[in-house]
Amino acid sequence: MTPTREEVGANDLDARLWLGALHRAADVSARAVSLESAAGDVMAQVCSAAGWPVAWLLAVAGGRVEPTHVWHMTDHDRYGSLLAVGDEEGMGAPLAARAVALGEPVWTGDLAEVGAVCTEAAHAGLSGALAFPIHDDGDGHGGVVVAVVQCFSVRAERPPPDVVAMAAAAVGQLGRVVDRERAAAASDEAVLMTEVAHDAYIAVDELGRIVEWNPEAEAVFGWSRAEAVGRPLVDLAVPARHHDDFIDHLGRVLAGDARPLAPRRELVALHRSGAEFPVQVTVWTNGRDGSRRICGFVRDLSERKRFEGQLASQALHDRLTGLPNRVLLRDRVEHALARAGRRGASVALLIADIDRFKLINESLGHDGGDRLLVAVGERLTELLRPGDTVARMGGDEFALLCEDIDGYKDAVSIAARVVGAFEKPFQVQGADMSLTASVGVAVGAVAGPAPELLLRDADVAMYRAKDGGRDRYEVFDETMLVDATERLSVEHDLRRGIAEGQLRLYYQPIVHLDTGAIAGFEALVRWQHPLRGLLPPLEFIPSAEETGLIVPLGRYVLQEACLEAARWGDIHPSGERLRISVNVSAKQLAQPGWSDEVAQTLAESGLAPRQLVLEITESVLMDDTDTTAVRLEELRRLGVRIAIDDFGTGYSSLGYLRRLPVDILKIDKSFIDGVAEGPHESALARAVVKLASTLRLEAVAEGINSRKQLLQLRRLRCPYGQGFYFSRPQPPAAIPRLLDLGALEGVDPGE
Ligand code: GH3
Ligand code: MG
Repeated sequence: MTPTREEVGANDLDARLWLGALHRAADVSARAVSLESAAGDVMAQVCSAAGWPVAWLLAVAGGRVEPTHVWHMTDHDRYGSLLAVGDEEGMGAPLAARAVALGEPVWTGDLAEVGAVCTEAAHAGLSGALAFPIHDDGDGHGGVVVAVVQCFSVRAERPPPDVVAMAAAAVGQLGRVVDRERAAAASDEAVLMTEVAHDAYIAVDELGRIVEWNPEAEAVFGWSRAEAVGRPLVDLAVPARHHDDFIDHLGRVLAGDARPLAPRRELVALHRSGAEFPVQVTVWTNGRDGSRRICGFVRDLSERKRFEGQLASQALHDRLTGLPNRVLLRDRVEHALARAGRRGASVALLIADIDRFKLINESLGHDGGDRLLVAVGERLTELLRPGDTVARMGGDEFALLCEDIDGYKDAVSIAARVVGAFEKPFQVQGADMSLTASVGVAVGAVAGPAPELLLRDADVAMYRAKDGGRDRYEVFDETMLVDATERLSVEHDLRRGIAEGQLRLYYQPIVHLDTGAIAGFEALVRWQHPLRGLLPPLEFIPSAEETGLIVPLGRYVLQEACLEAARWGDIHPSGERLRISVNVSAKQLAQPGWSDEVAQTLAESGLAPRQLVLEITESVLMDDTDTTAVRLEELRRLGVRIAIDDFGTGYSSLGYLRRLPVDILKIDKSFIDGVAEGPHESALARAVVKLASTLRLEAVAEGINSRKQLLQLRRLRCPYGQGFYFSRPQPPAAIPRLLDLGALEGVDPGE
C-alpha cells in the first residue's frame, strides 16, 4: 500500500491544491464568528495541501501559549492519543512560543520542542513540527500574535519554503476572524453605551442626515427615533439663525478641512417645541464601513444653567428682603464710580443702621424683627430713583447707592431724607413700631476712591452718627478715618496684649459701710500698653466688646482674679471670708458651656464658689433673658453669687429682679454722686436701697468719694460700698497691707 500524501508529507508544491486551500481559508475566515470555528476548517485545508497528518490550535493570551481543544487529524485512531495529552499541555510548548516571539513560522525536526505531546507524537510516527503564528490584524505580519497553529509532519526534514509560505498565508487568514471579533465586541459595547448613555447620542451621515438617535436624544429634543432618523439634523435640532454656520462646518469636517468642535463645547439647541436650550456637545468623526459619519454626545444643560442662575442670584441677593447684598452692591459701586468718572458726576453711598434693633427683636421676636427689616427695605427703596440701589449689607444695616448726584449738597439732602423716612412708624403685627436709624454718607467723585474705600468711609461716618447719639446722619471726612484707624490698631494691639500677658488686675476694696471693714475686692483690669503706658478699661474694653476679644480677655481676668483671691486665705486670717467680684460681659455669658468654664476655674484655683461674685450689667440681663436665666441658674447651682452692676441705669422694668437668681445690687455711681446734697438728690438712692432690702438683696454703693456720702449712705442703711474715699484700685502687692489695716473707714491709702 502506497502511503497517502499526508503520511509522507508533500515536498513539492501543488499550486492548484494550495490555491484552493487559500481560497477556502479566506472564505471561512471571512464568515466565521470565532477563531475556533474557523480554525478546524483552515487547518484541514492546509494539512491536506501540505500532506501533514495533524494540526493543533494553540491560543496566546498575555504572551503565554495555552492549549485548545481544536485539532485536526487525518486518522483519529492513530493520533487520538495526542488529544488527551494536549489537554494537559499547559505550559511548555517551546516551538509555539518561538513562533510567537519571532512572529514567523518556525520548524523543528526535534519533537522534544513541541512539549508534552512529544512522546505520543513520536509514538504515532510523527517526526517534525511547524508552528504558524496568527496575527490579529489578519495580514500575517503586523499586529500581535494571538494564536498559533502547530502542524506535525511524518518527515524529519524541513518542508520547502514555498510550502511553508503558502501554509502561513492560509493560516494567517484566521487573523481576520480575530480582528472582526474584536471590532464586533467593541461595536456591541458602543451600541450598548450609546443606548444607555445619560447624554443624547447622535450620528449623522455625509449628508448631515441623522443615522443614530438614542433614547436620551428622544427625550432631549422631543423627536422619536423613527421621526428623526433620515432627516437632516440641522432641521431638527439647530436654531434657524445657526443653520448656515452649522451646514458650513459640517461640510468642512466631512471634507477633512476642519476638525470637529473641541470637546464639551457649549451651544444652543432647538427643541421640537421651538424652545431653545443650552447644550454641551462632544463630537468626533468615524470612518468605519467606508462611510464617514459625525457622531456626538449632546448634554442638555438647561437644568444646570437654571441651577447656576439660581445660585448666582442667591449669591448676590439677600434672602430675607430680596435686595442686592453686599457683594452685588460692591459691584454696583464699582460700576457707578467708573460711570461717574466718565461723566464728571458724583456717586453718593449711604449706610443706614437701625438704632437699637436688638431691643426690637426682643419685643417683637426674631420673626417680627425680620418683617420689620423687610418693611425698612421697602421704604428705603421707595425713597430712591429707579436707577439707584438699595442693598442689605447684613443684620440691620442697609446701603443706598445714588448715581449722578451733584456732590455733597445732594448727598446731604438724600441723607436727611433717609433719616426722615423713619419718622413715620412701621406697621408690624398690627402694631406701630417707631424706629430710628443712623446714617453715614460718603461721596465718590471724578477721581473717586475704590469701591472698598467708599464703603469704608460711609461705614465710618455711620459709626460717627451712632456715637453722636443716633437718629442722625454724618458725612464722612478724613478726621473720622483717623479715629477709626486708631480703633483698628487698638484691636490689633489688644489681641497681642492679651496673648503676651500685658493685662494687669487691680483690686478695689468693698467695705462694710458701718465699720469700714474690708468685705472683699472688685477686680478691675488695666492694660500695660508697651507704648501708651497703663490704660484704664474705658480705653480698650469697648473695642474688646465690639471685636469679641472680650471673651479671651474675660477668661484671663476670671482666672487671674480667682487665683489671687485664693492666695488671700494664705496671707491673712480674714482672707478666706473675702469675696472677689469679677465683671462679666454679655458675650462671655452667652458662650455655651461658660458655667463649666467657671466651675473649672474655681476648681483649679481652689477658691470657694461662695467667695466669687460675678458682676453683670443691668443691660445684659435685659438683653436676652432666656439664655441669661439659664446661665445664671447654672452659676447659682455652682454656689457662685451674682451682682447687678450699674444698677438703676437700665431702662426696663424691674421684673427681672424677681425672676433671676440675683444676690447683690450695685447702685450706680450716678445715684451716689448727689446723695450728700440733700433729701431730693438722695431720693433715688434711698429707693434703690429700699428696693434691695425688700427683695433681700445686698446693696453695694459704687463711687463713694467723700465722708459726707458715706455718712448719708449709712443713714440710708446701705450695707456695703466702694470708692476712692476708701481706696483706689490697688495692685496685688498692696493687698496684704490693706488686709492688715483691717478697716478703711476714713482712711485714704492713696495709690
Ligand atoms: P445700634 O444702635 O448700635 O445699631 O444697636 P443695635 O441693637 O441695632 O445693634 P447692631 O446694629 O450692632 O446689631 C444689629 C442686631 O440686629 C443684631 C441682631 O440681634 C439683629 N439682627 C441681625 N440680623 C438679623 C436678622 O436677620 N433678623 C432679625 N430679626 N434681627 C437681626
Ligand atoms: Mg443697629
